[in-house]
Amino acid sequence: MTSGRTWIKRADWVIGWDAAGERHVYLTGADVVFTGATIDFVGRDYDGQAETVIDGAGLMVMPGLIDIHSHPSDEPKSKGLFEEVGSRLLHNTTLIEYMPLVRGDQSAAEAAGAVALSELLQSGCTTLADLSMTRPGWLDLLAESGIRAYAAPMFRAARWYTPNGHEVLYEWAEDGGRSSLAEALATVDAAEAHACGRLKGMLAPAQIDTCTPELLKNSAAAARERGLPWQIHASQSVVEFREIVRRHGRTPVEWLDGLDLLGPGAIIAHAIFLDHHPWLHWPDHDDLRRLGESGANIAHCPNIFARRGMLLTDFARYRKAGVTIGIGTDSFPHNMIDEMRWATVLAKVSTGDVHSISVADVFAAATIGGARTLGRDDIGRLAPGCRADIVLIDATHPAMRPLRDPLRSLVFSALERPVREVYVDGRRVVADGAVATLDYAAAAERLEVAQKRALAGVAERDWAGRDADEMFPLSLPMA
Ligand SMILES: [Zn+2]
Repeated sequence: MTSGRTWIKRADWVIGWDAAGERHVYLTGADVVFTGATIDFVGRDYDGQAETVIDGAGLMVMPGLIDIHSHPSDEPKSKGLFEEVGSRLLHNTTLIEYMPLVRGDQSAAEAAGAVALSELLQSGCTTLADLSMTRPGWLDLLAESGIRAYAAPMFRAARWYTPNGHEVLYEWAEDGGRSSLAEALATVDAAEAHACGRLKGMLAPAQIDTCTPELLKNSAAAARERGLPWQIHASQSVVEFREIVRRHGRTPVEWLDGLDLLGPGAIIAHAIFLDHHPWLHWPDHDDLRRLGESGANIAHCPNIFARRGMLLTDFARYRKAGVTIGIGTDSFPHNMIDEMRWATVLAKVSTGDVHSISVADVFAAATIGGARTLGRDDIGRLAPGCRADIVLIDATHPAMRPLRDPLRSLVFSALERPVREVYVDGRRVVADGAVATLDYAAAAERLEVAQKRALAGVAERDWAGRDADEMFPLSLPMA
């Protein structure tokens, strides 16, 4: 029986899976074979038949990357706006004063989603956790893109705002966020039932400081009941750390632990401002131990924080504590290889030690780490029985050469440029380097128009009435 079987024959390089050592390994001159959505064979000298044979000469074959934290419906419209701003009196965060200023409409969200999904696929990402607000057409766009997605509709009980640029206030919903959770559950159930078969749900209380304990507990119970992951933004800013201490006399992680919300099903994004972070100057250092002992996971998204001067300290220390780390892009660029580069380099910078973490460690986080945070062992590795989520890299691309170590060439030098073909569930979604399922260029054009529309409303939303030019000055003066 050869029906629907694809044989990538004698690839120069394959990143295979050593089951005994539980690690990725290089194979040379190896075959990868899949039938439909499932991998049949990874190794040398396959002796079967196949309907489609791909010559593996000049290729590296690797597992698809897993982005466990991203906001495709929102973030792309902030390009050129948010990279170099932050509230001076709120520890440089953009969350409170800046984010609410740029509000997108339905068409902005659609365009942004298509742009982000195109970029993710073109960077070899095959699984995505999409934290968005529920909107019409959201699940269909995820399905159309061909990516494997966890739809994580965000819900909460409050919105934050600042009346003056130095104070953070919360406006609480009368129902404590119950209707918001109910709507999210309906979306999650619709994702799980979607005809494409590649969508799953995730419960995502938006932020630790915008949810009541009841909302957090009820949503975690709903996640357990459905067997789904649960993800929350926590320890993502100094302001938030201080707010939870002000309310409860505990650190954010300590408070979640006390509510029994940490554990293998929980993903904490971004878990940067734990009690050991130097900026907090906190007397006790117990948060990492709490995370590690509970089996909780973190979503590590280094780029967006690094560009406003914030650093997770540090990757190696989290690993030593037993925390499972997955990688997320969070914002633009939606490029998982670029995110791996940031994660690798910043881990070394944060310790001043070239040996503290390796590109192999970060690649593991971006593949099996992500899979573990999602409670799966059938993605993030090339092994028989796993999903056929496969990336073909052009190992002859000049940016990959000299090709002594393809993973290092990819992450430190080439980035997404040599990504040639991407398969999700055995279906080709990137062909010859370009996304095959969506119109990337048209979406980018629509997004630009949508951004202009959103910027027109900045002054009326800002507490001081400042307009977009004042809030987001260009990098160079206009002559
Ligand atoms: Zn986020």
